[in-house]
Amino acid sequence: MSKVLGLHHITAIAGSAQENVAFYTAILGLRLVKKTVNFDDPGTYHFYYGDEYGRPGTILTFFPWQHMAKGRNGAGMATEIAYSIPKGSMSFWEKHLQKNGVSLDHKVERFGDIYQPFTDPDGLQLSMVETGLEDNRQGWQVPEIDQGVATKGFFNTTLTLRELEPTARILTDLLDYDQVAQEGNRFRFVNPHVTSANTIDIWVDPKAQRGSNLAGTNHHIAFTVENSEDQMKLREEILSAGLHITPQIDRDYFHSLYFREPGGVLFEIATKQPGFTVDEPLDRLGQALKLPKQFEAHRNEIEAVLPVIKETR
Ligand code: ZN
Repeated sequence: MSKVLGLHHITAIAGSAQENVAFYTAILGLRLVKKTVNFDDPGTYHFYYGDEYGRPGTILTFFPWQHMAKGRNGAGMATEIAYSIPKGSMSFWEKHLQKNGVSLDHKVERFGDIYQPFTDPDGLQLSMVETGLEDNRQGWQVPEIDQGVATKGFFNTTLTLRELEPTARILTDLLDYDQVAQEGNRFRFVNPHVTSANTIDIWVDPKAQRGSNLAGTNHHIAFTVENSEDQMKLREEILSAGLHITPQIDRDYFHSLYFREPGGVLFEIATKQPGFTVDEPLDRLGQALKLPKQFEAHRNEIEAVLPVIKETR
């Protein structure tokens, strides 16, 4: 069987590009590792934030549409993203977020860990969590956020679904996850091949309305595979399970397949390679606007319609 290696990236929808950059770089302390455009809508940015390299399991990406209406979380969506933070750093984050005008929701306990929920400027639901598990990933450092407190990448994401079974079967039978725990209507799945960004929760709410996939909501979640060979094996397995899946699509920084799981969440399978250093050096990641080659001839028109971003780093 092909191996899935936990989460690769999560992609969400934003409103203002400038607010998005300011929030994720200066307040959350992530590295903007790529500034490119939506390959299907090149008049819109595509921002990628992550650790120093933008390693799989740390990458949160956004399509910012300036005048996009606010969406609503609901059934058939990834409805929360939790970042793993170093042990002992929760009080730093509480103060830091509040100092920057981010209001904190009530803490919640899940499977023995305390989650501190908050939202981004568009209402995207995020959490900080200090888990009892080892997480050796090194966060990106910015002024005010050193390595002792920097986020390490994803701990888990939560899918809100009306039914457990159809999606649980996709996770366990095709994507190598094990169902490991349950608390009320929350079911936890862990991928045993990796030690971080390997956790997915399913929150079952049989009466949940379908979400509205606009600003402040997640668009899709992507799982990691080592290479194209594993990816194409997995594609066959997904097809054999009777699901529709796209052909392999070149996203410049990884190769992707997309399929909609039975609960309605858009899943992507992405390769580790080639990564974000394929078209700019590590020390300058995210600084220049990078365009896929099919749009390079239109750079002037594209740059003219994209909002100017003031870097806050
Ligand atoms: Zn994606």
